[in-house]
Amino acid sequence: MTPSSPSKIEHIIVHEFMFCAAHGDEYCQRCCCDHRMVNNVTIEEELGDMSEFLGFEVEERQPLNAYVLGAVAALHTEESYQCEKHKTVDCSKCFDWTSIIKREAEEAEEGGRWMSKRNSLQEQLESGVLTALPVQGASS
Ligand SMILES: [Zn+2]
Ligand SMILES: [Zn+2]
Repeated sequence: MTPSSPSKIEHIIVHEFMFCAAHGDEYCQRCCCDHRMVNNVTIEEELGDMSEFLGFEVEERQPLNAYVLGAVAALHTEESYQCEKHKTVDCSKCFDWTSIIKREAEEAEEGGRWMSKRNSLQEQLESGVLTALPVQGASS
């Protein structure tokens, strides 16, 4: 297996999303590129106001990696990328960016909720509210 030559092209397009060609990264420190902004615009309509609704900053979302998600250079053309699973160029199932980002946003939202719940519990403990509550289950 030989990696596709990174010298010729700087970035690749997989299902309308841009990644660095060398590493398949949407955000790559080695290539000094961040394609998230451009990619977000591509799915802006599909995302709608979801980012606002979830309190999730799309600009700061986890960068995707096309190669990790199974993108491989299509045999017949250098510029197309297909999925490993279905051998489909720009596979809408494997490279369903909107769903991937939505899922991530939902997880972030749940994490945030969990954190705030935990924090408020911590605050209650610190303020001594919880210790003032009657102890339950003492008789059982
Ligand atoms: Zn890179
Ligand atoms: Zn696929």
